[in-house]
Amino acid sequence: VSEAFLDTLAAIVGPAHVLCQPADMLPFLTDWRGQRRGSALAVVRPGQMTEVAAVLRAAGAAGVAVLPQGGNTGLAYGTLDTGPGQRIILSLGRMDRIRALDPVGLTMEVEAGCILHTVRQAALAAGRQFPVSLAAEGSATIGGIIAANAGGVNVLRHGMTRALVLGLEVVLADGTVLHGLRALRKDNAGYDWKHWFIGSEGTLGVVTAATLRLLPRPRHTMVALLAVADPAAALALLVLAQEELGDAISAFELMAGSSLALVERHFGLAAPIAPAPWFVLMEAQASLPGLAEATDSVLATALERGHAGDGVVAASDAQAQRLWSLREHITLAEAREGASIKHDIAVPVPAMPGFLAEASAAVERAFPGARLNPFGHLGDGNIHFNVLAPPGTDAAAVNDLVHGLVIASGGSISAEHGIGRYRKAALLAMRSPAEIAMMARLRAALDPGGVLNPGAVFD
Ligand SMILES: Cc1cc2nc3c(=O)[nH]c(=O)nc-3n(C[C@H](O)[C@H](O)[C@H](O)COP(=O)(O)OP(=O)(O)OC[C@H]3O[C@@H](n4cnc5c(N)ncnc54)[C@H](O)[C@@H]3O)c2cc1C
Repeated sequence: VSEAFLDTLAAIVGPAHVLCQPADMLPFLTDWRGQRRGSALAVVRPGQMTEVAAVLRAAGAAGVAVLPQGGNTGLAYGTLDTGPGQRIILSLGRMDRIRALDPVGLTMEVEAGCILHTVRQAALAAGRQFPVSLAAEGSATIGGIIAANAGGVNVLRHGMTRALVLGLEVVLADGTVLHGLRALRKDNAGYDWKHWFIGSEGTLGVVTAATLRLLPRPRHTMVALLAVADPAAALALLVLAQEELGDAISAFELMAGSSLALVERHFGLAAPIAPAPWFVLMEAQASLPGLAEATDSVLATALERGHAGDGVVAASDAQAQRLWSLREHITLAEAREGASIKHDIAVPVPAMPGFLAEASAAVERAFPGARLNPFGHLGDGNIHFNVLAPPGTDAAAVNDLVHGLVIASGGSISAEHGIGRYRKAALLAMRSPAEIAMMARLRAALDPGGVLNPGAVFD
């Protein structure tokens, strides 16, 4: 690719926004753990949608691939490529404006590069909430969570990102702009095409802005940490809590005792209750009064029935935050502990205790010295079944073992992190040839030149 192509990019976005020096590009080409490095001709940082369209047209004409990127917190190496061909990273970070917030219609229009935490704070400041919440929300962007259809800790009540997107503005590979920033709750006029792009991991179009669905900000929040004997007891607790509190239960996280031990070792954060084999972190939210009393009654019943052994309820926002920070530090503590083999699996909720017992025993038997760090969203049937394996362990063999059990349980090998470049082989193992062929036809129809993120999701 000639200097002329880079000059064209500079003319579109401004020379300051085309990064070509290795040191400048490094943060965009390295995953958050520093384990994987990609390569690119340049990192291009458009400031508006028309610039995105012009960059895509120029790249298509030059035969250069375009890898859209938000906060680069994705866990599936979605934009880290070293394969043949030339590519640029299209970083949406400069497009970070909140354009409008409608507290009556409960909607918010934001640009793709807006940081998730900023969006959440803006909603709270207006007495509303945007419930997608995850440990990387200080860096993850709205475009990234949409392209990944991110989950997070509030899926139990509010669904995945898909459930919270009302409209999208998307630029296709040939520069065509789809203006779909509609703020309607009901709109069955033709195909609801926004869903093609939600979860498409940058392979079908570039999301440049979104209309998000907000909710009223709840008046009361309850956060509790409970010690449980095993995942079956945690599930019994979930059933009880849902029977008593209904859909007020917004988060129900399971954490192995070994996970919290890692958090204490690496960050000095300790659970305010005695060590236990497993813990549940539970959050409920409501605007009507009575949540505290209802929670007390659930906890009393749980202790009486033996679902939980010990527990603590946060008495202030600061205490609630301290409990949540235990959960939020697990991934970071795991990274500090060393290399790990990750599995973002889903199985039907009732199957989770059986799966965890079987998979744990199988991994420990087949890979002596492996330590398990399972934690995650039990209420959604999604656990991060991570394995801290001794050096030299065959990661592919661990993956095969775990994923085989997941598929046998009727589950998914990617609950919320997507496929990226990390799980392509596993995707082929769990989707039929007919489904893959249909996805390939959709991709070819929207991007016949193969400009957008080639090498991601499937080849
Ligand atoms: C500590 C930690 C905790 C996490 N916890 C969770 C969790 O609980 N739940 C969860 O679901 N994820 C979680 N993640 C993963 C990650 O944060 C999410 O997938 C997030 O949605 C990625 O957003 P991003 O802006 O960083 O996207 P990136 O990493 O930049 O990109 C992710 C994918 O989206 C595409 N993309 C990005 N922006 C656009 C755009 N504007 N248009 C088109 N395609 C685009 C990219 O090409 C790539 O394929 C976690 C990550 C970390 C590091």
